[in-house]
Amino acid sequence: MYCIRCGLQLPDDAKSCSRCGTPVPGMAPPQSGLPWAILACVCCCPATGIVAIVYALKSAELFKQQKWEEARKAAAKSVRWSWISVHTAIVLTLAYMVYGVILLYRQLDQFDQLMK
Ligand SMILES: [Zn+2]
Repeated sequence: MYCIRCGLQLPDDAKSCSRCGTPVPGMAPPQSGLPWAILACVCCCPATGIVAIVYALKSAELFKQQKWEEARKAAAKSVRWSWISVHTAIVLTLAYMVYGVILLYRQLDQFDQLMK
């Protein structure tokens, strides 16, 4: 067994490369972003959450095909899109709150004018 990054020969039971620290493929799948992707899709922003889910599924598929490096990249993209979903949701929520406050003030203004 050889390290995929630096090519160092590793013992068969090695979990990571002793020289460069690269995890040995096949021991653990890349950190799946799928739970986060689904959560992001349901709770935050469906449009960007879907992208995260697609990448998470693609990562699992690439991992099965033993394309470790591509699987890792797809997983990383999935996690990134999950974060984009969270940020989008936060921005939208804040925007709604600001909009709500503006509406409230307008209503109060009108109310004041009615009372005069
Ligand atoms: Zn290595």
